[in-house]
Amino acid sequence: MKIKNQDFLKKENQSLVLEIILNQGPISRAEIAKRTMMSPTSASRIVASLLEVELIREVNLISDGIGRKATYFVPNENSVISIGVEIDQNAIRIGFMNFVGNLVVLEHFNYQPVDPGETIQYITNKIRNIINRENITFEQIAGICLGLPGLIQNETGMIKLSAQFNWKQVPLGEMLEEKIGFQVFVDNELKLKALAEYITNPEPEKENMAMIGFGSGVGSALVTKGDIYRGEGNFSGEIGHTIVDPYGIYCPCGNFGCLQTYIAEKFLLAEASKTKSIENIQELISESENKEKWAINILDKAITYAAITINNVVCVYNPDTVVLSGSLIENYPVIKERILEKCKNQIWTPVNNTFELRTTKTGVEGVVVGAAISVQRHFIKNIQFNREV
Ligand SMILES: [Zn+2]
Repeated sequence: MKIKNQDFLKKENQSLVLEIILNQGPISRAEIAKRTMMSPTSASRIVASLLEVELIREVNLISDGIGRKATYFVPNENSVISIGVEIDQNAIRIGFMNFVGNLVVLEHFNYQPVDPGETIQYITNKIRNIINRENITFEQIAGICLGLPGLIQNETGMIKLSAQFNWKQVPLGEMLEEKIGFQVFVDNELKLKALAEYITNPEPEKENMAMIGFGSGVGSALVTKGDIYRGEGNFSGEIGHTIVDPYGIYCPCGNFGCLQTYIAEKFLLAEASKTKSIENIQELISESENKEKWAINILDKAITYAAITINNVVCVYNPDTVVLSGSLIENYPVIKERILEKCKNQIWTPVNNTFELRTTKTGVEGVVVGAAISVQRHFIKNIQFNREV
């Protein structure tokens, strides 16, 4: 067993008390001591220092037991603002989340990211405008997290590869940090969305939730015991690039016959264009409803491969919940229903009915919320005061 040093213990205790007030407040001093298993003196000192830096505040409430007014502690709602940003193919979404998890700002900008430098400049300008408009002070801001598709080294903020934007080896986190001066994190968008889904689900928390995204790409993410499962280099879940047929069609990742080439939107449209030029997935659905054989075949194949993807994720991760998300699921109810129907006979019998299968409950703000939550978590985990506690 490793012996923890004093500083580490101090930091851990401060984080623990703050976490309990955030998740379980209003809460009394005595109850904080009891739940953290600290001495009443230590708990009181930490509470005092949290009050001093205004991360929490006092409220006087009637105590249940004795019927007299007693002092309880709650988080100071606007003391900490965490900023989440989603970089999407045709949009930038920016959200400001307060300390109790409410989005106080959510903005959507139509923007097509092409050059990383220009995209970072655009995001910097938008965030600065919001800060000025909302009269937010720099001290309130805990940091920023950018979410985008691709292989992302979350610890360094380096984009190893984002095929959707054709970005390779881009130090995106560093670039934004230099411009804006706040701490910046970068992560894979589906992992962030899965975290938001897990945290904001009002139903009792389960242990292992897998999210599968079907849209401009195909991906999966696992949240286990409240944390994102990352693997060694943060690319766990990249199921869209598992190879189904090495003699299949070219995938922008450099390989051939990746799973996503059978399901993702742009590949379905490219396949359709061999027969008829169509603009979007809705047109493909209409053609299949008009009994056009070629359109029926493309959709049948995509739906079968999507159900197979769900089967494979269940076999690999053994989750208790599988949540489907992504534009194909969220924008086209016909496709969603057909995938769910297909699962009935595509999921391996022994694992069938071992998990709940549902669609995402987070809305368009899912990635932004997950990004802001991860900033706040980092803030809480790393909080430390100089004051002796
Ligand atoms: Zn690929």
